[in-house]
Amino acid sequence: METDTISAISTPVGEGAIAIVRLSGPEAVSLANGIFQGKDLNEVNTHTIHYGKLVDPKTNELVEEVMVSVMRAPKTFTREDIVEINCHGGLVSVNRVLELTLAQGSRLAEPGEFTKRAFLNGRIDLSQAEAVMDLIRAKTDRAMNVALKQMDGRLSRLIQNLRQELLEVLAQVEVNIDYPEYDDVEEMTNEMMIHNTKSVHQEIERLLRTAKQGKILREGLGTAIVGRPNVGKSSLMNALVHENKAIVTEVPGTTRDVIEEYVNVRGVPLRLIDTAGIRETEDLVEKIGVERSRQVLQEADLILLVLNNGDTITEEDKKLFEAVKGMDVIVIVNKTDLPQQIDMGELREVAGNHPIVTTSLIEEQGIDQLETAISEIFFEGDIDTGDMTYLSNVRHVQLLNQAKDTLEEAMQGMEAGMPIDMVQIDVTRTWELLGEIVGDTVQESLIDQLFSQFCLGK
Ligand code: GDP
Ligand code: ZN
Repeated sequence: METDTISAISTPVGEGAIAIVRLSGPEAVSLANGIFQGKDLNEVNTHTIHYGKLVDPKTNELVEEVMVSVMRAPKTFTREDIVEINCHGGLVSVNRVLELTLAQGSRLAEPGEFTKRAFLNGRIDLSQAEAVMDLIRAKTDRAMNVALKQMDGRLSRLIQNLRQELLEVLAQVEVNIDYPEYDDVEEMTNEMMIHNTKSVHQEIERLLRTAKQGKILREGLGTAIVGRPNVGKSSLMNALVHENKAIVTEVPGTTRDVIEEYVNVRGVPLRLIDTAGIRETEDLVEKIGVERSRQVLQEADLILLVLNNGDTITEEDKKLFEAVKGMDVIVIVNKTDLPQQIDMGELREVAGNHPIVTTSLIEEQGIDQLETAISEIFFEGDIDTGDMTYLSNVRHVQLLNQAKDTLEEAMQGMEAGMPIDMVQIDVTRTWELLGEIVGDTVQESLIDQLFSQFCLGK
């Protein structure tokens, strides 16, 4: 168990007028007190905030005017003593304050270490910790709500309920193994097993069905705009970015540290794929080759295929339709202000089931309908989105898939009349796999790896 005191800047660096340096650990209050003038922080009540001056104890030089909050364990995020020093947002000033806390004897926190401590001290479980990470990265309000619900422990409770049902089965199996001579015990066991495994199985499947939306909320709907030169791809991109709040996010740790562009369309985050490339490459298919462009297209969750209303459908257009076969495509017939040359009957044939939207980007027409079409693709055929626990995490999806598989083995075993202790193994394994989601049964290396994905100061 870690017991030293850590500190870090816990607000985004360089943003906002206020920055917070946060300390957590047994020495948090006394360390802060060593550089604070105004009050004896060792004496103040917990969960109070105090105005004063930060002074470098070596030189007695005034560093900053600050507000300091003191929160004593255990009612804190990490369940340790926490001190938050609110100072001016400038980079120099915040770093100076951080350095002072380090000079006093705290250690610079690793990425995610505050949240890791909250987890290790039992304040939150693993799926909640992962929700903190999602929250930091959330790109729309909707994604943020999903993360908040998960942080609030909704997924955890759901998973714990499923585990409880399986535990009841396992207990009943024990009874059965202890009293094999009673027929009615066996009957009860079988009935309960079938009932509980079925209901757990259904719930797992329901959760897995939410995974696609969850992934999109988390990572954005990978969107590629394709079309022949001059049909209006760049104009479409500009319209989308202009109409909606564009969110620029740095994605560290990916092979190329790209700056990705996100736009928020009715709560659906669109991640515009390789936009720079598409912007310059007037003809995606020609310029980067069919193979490479197929790859780019395959990364996409959504294709916006743009055509020109003032032109007939060409072979090139048809090739594009061919290349995006089987994907989610919205066909956009742009330039409706021009005299119509496109044959709509032919288009409907080529477009198949894909929705068709008409726009005149130059006259700002049709963008609303396009956005409706996008949100309909995202929320296809569903689901009560207001009160939904989305599965948004790759690790959770994998574990649930495995849990579903082992549970199905157990169910098949029951049907085939396998010995009960064989079925028991699969049910136990399912119970363990579900436990890994909330962190009851995970290895330490995984925990380290998970928390290392966090930003500094969280
Ligand atoms: P891209 O080559 O597909 O990226 O097409 P651009 O967005 O660069 O647009 C090509 C040309 O078409 C530009 O001159 C645009 O101003 C023009 N354009 C875009 N949308 C419309 C439209 O709805 N109507 C008309 N008449 N022109 C448009
Ligand atoms: Zn262009």
